[in-house]
Formats: sequence, C-alpha cells, structure tokens
Amino acid sequence: MISQKMEGFLQNNSAIRAMFEEGKRLASIYGAQNVYDFSLGNPNVPAPKAVNDAIKNILDEEDPVFVHGYMSNVGYEDVRQTIAESINERFGTKFGSENLIMTVGAASGLNVIFKTLLNEGDEVIAFSPYFVEYNAYVTNYDGVLKEVPCPGPDFLPNAEKLAAAITPKTRAVIMNNPNNPTGVVYPVKIIEEIAAVLEAKQKEYGTDIYLISDEPYRELVYGDVEVPYLTKYYRNTIVGYSFSKSLSLPGERIGYLVIPSEISDYQNVYDAAAIATRILGYVNAPSLMQRVVARAIHEKTDVAYYDKNRKFLYELLTSLGFECVKPEGAFYLWLKTPMEDEKEFCAIAKEYHLILVPGSSFKCSGYVRIAYCVSHETILRSEDAWKKLAQRVLTR
Ligand code: PLP
Repeated sequence: MISQKMEGFLQNNSAIRAMFEEGKRLASIYGAQNVYDFSLGNPNVPAPKAVNDAIKNILDEEDPVFVHGYMSNVGYEDVRQTIAESINERFGTKFGSENLIMTVGAASGLNVIFKTLLNEGDEVIAFSPYFVEYNAYVTNYDGVLKEVPCPGPDFLPNAEKLAAAITPKTRAVIMNNPNNPTGVVYPVKIIEEIAAVLEAKQKEYGTDIYLISDEPYRELVYGDVEVPYLTKYYRNTIVGYSFSKSLSLPGERIGYLVIPSEISDYQNVYDAAAIATRILGYVNAPSLMQRVVARAIHEKTDVAYYDKNRKFLYELLTSLGFECVKPEGAFYLWLKTPMEDEKEFCAIAKEYHLILVPGSSFKCSGYVRIAYCVSHETILRSEDAWKKLAQRVLTR
C-alpha cells in the first residue's frame, strides 16, 4: 500500500510529462521527424563550450578526492562566494558566501525552503497560471497552496487580489519571473505594488511573509526587457535560482538559494535550510557541477536561438488567426484556444502530431503552452501542421 499523499499524486500525475511520453510514442510510430513535440521545457541549445571545457579541466586540474567528495551541506564556500560576487556585480546587491546555499536545481531549492518555513496548514500563495509542481512542493510539507489568478490578456499579478488572499496563516508568496507558462515578465511597478501589500500585511498581522522568487528563466529575456531583482524591493525575499535553463544543464541538477542577511530570522532560516538540504536526502548539490558553474559563471546561453524560434512561431500562429501572448521571457508561447476546452484542442492538435500542454496543467484553462526550446528545423517543419490545425479549428 502506498501513502495517501502519494495516492493523490498518482491520480494527478503531471500532464506535461504525459504529453512528453505521448510525443515519444508518436515518434516511434511516425518517426521523430514527423512529430512536433512542444511539451517539455528541455533546452535544445547545447551548454556553452566553456561548461564542457570546465568539466574536463576540473577533472584534469583538481584533486579527484576533493572534486568527488562530500563538502559542507550548503556547498563549497569558494563557489558560493564566486556566485555571490557575480550577483552583486549585476544587481548591485551585497551578498557573500554566507547568503548562498547550493541546491539540486530550483526544484530542490524550493523544497528546501518550504521544508524550512512551513508548519502544517501554513499557506503559500502562487499566482496562476503557475508551474504546477508548486502544489506538490507545498503539500510535501503539509502546507496549503492558495491561488491568486492573473487573468489575460496581460497575465500580471494584481496587488489588490493578493491582499485579499493573505491571511494570518500566509507564510510565503511564490513568484516566477519570467513566467512559465505565459512568457510574461513582471515589471518593477508590479513588484513595488506587491512589496507594499506584503509589508502592510506583515504589519497588520504581526507575521513574516517571505517572498520566494523562483528564477530559472532570469537570463532568458528578449530585447531590452529587465527582470527586477526582488531582494531590492522587499526585505523578506528569498531567491531560488537554477542553471537548468540558463546554461542548458537540466539533467545535471544544479542551482542555488539566496537567503539575504536582512530577512527575518536570517541565521535560523539559513541554518535550517542547510539541515533541510541534508535531511531531505540531497545532502549537498552535485560537487562537480558546483565547481563547473563557478568556472562558467560569466557564460550565457544562446538566447538569440530561442528568440528566432519565438519570432517565427509567434508570427506564424498570429498570422493564422490564433491569439497568443507575445513572450518577453522564458521559452514558452501561451496560446488562447479557440474552443473553451483546451484539452479538446490538444487532442485535435495531436492528430497533426503537434504535442502541446493544456493550460489546466498550470491551473488556467482555455490556453495551451507551446515550449519553443526545440530545434528551429522542428519549428519550420511544423508549419504545415499548424496551418491544418488552424483550418480545422478556426473555421468551424
Ligand atoms: N520552476 C519553474 C517555474 C520551472 O519551470 C522549472 C522547470 O521547468 C523549475 C522550477 C524546476 O527547475 P530545475 O530543473 O532547476 O529543478
């Protein structure tokens, strides 16, 4: 017998993964060339050469016992210091190694921080649509996830709606900017409004409300769009970062948490998060990858590649008559389905071998997510399928 909690997860297993599996099944029947799998946020741009060079050089240059050994649960001090300095340079902050904890990607960082902060029944607010794993991450620690919807056409958080959702049990608000699945980037004005609401509610209830900034897509922005660094706007901010997308290393599982010295109960939060890292079974972030990201800290992924896909797909789909949000960040296109039931739309799209993820997977029906982190050739090859889909669903 499995636990009741896992029973629930089994029932609601990720639709994103299900679509990905479906794409693989279709590819085995029709050939990978003839299936257009836009399901998973798996970067197709290779990791920068400097990353692979760093892996080789570290193995040649550093002591193998040290490289493959355990270290402090929070990660190597020199790695944390290097990353802290890079953040300080770019965002004018003042972090040191004592503010960073290396994590097993963003997913583990979020689990560590929820384990650290949540008591049973504590509430975490997320702005929907949101990365649906948040539900699991919060219920893992007996928290309750509350949604504040950000409706179209702009999909921006609304400070008044946030204020209405906050209760004395609110421990945290999680924000993902640039956003998966909409591709929207929340601007400074919205962040300032949210910070003001959080400050006021902390005062009103005499509580601490932590703002958790989930930032795997920070580096993936188009044009001169800026992603505000949230610690500068709200004191009780904790940042969760990942190199999964920014250096195309999702399978290597590497990221970090920033826990600023200014947050309430900093030392306890930091020390407890270190213990959470260990007792959740991560123990520490992968040793080799910590050393790699420190060496490759100034490297950037080829954002221009995603931009080419973004422009082509957005122009194609809007010219066919589909309504889409023009993404400013991440690598997802958010399309409004012509019929109310977006699952029906996904099923029809699948007939043309287009694998999309229904918006209900992000708690927002009536939309689908198209992950354009695929080869440009795949996008070019999919053109005909999109045209057939448009003919079928837009003319009925
Ligand atoms: N948060 C968001 C919004 C994501 O989209 C993802 C992955 O797609 C994650 C967290 C988890 O990222 P990681 O691979 O670093 O665990």
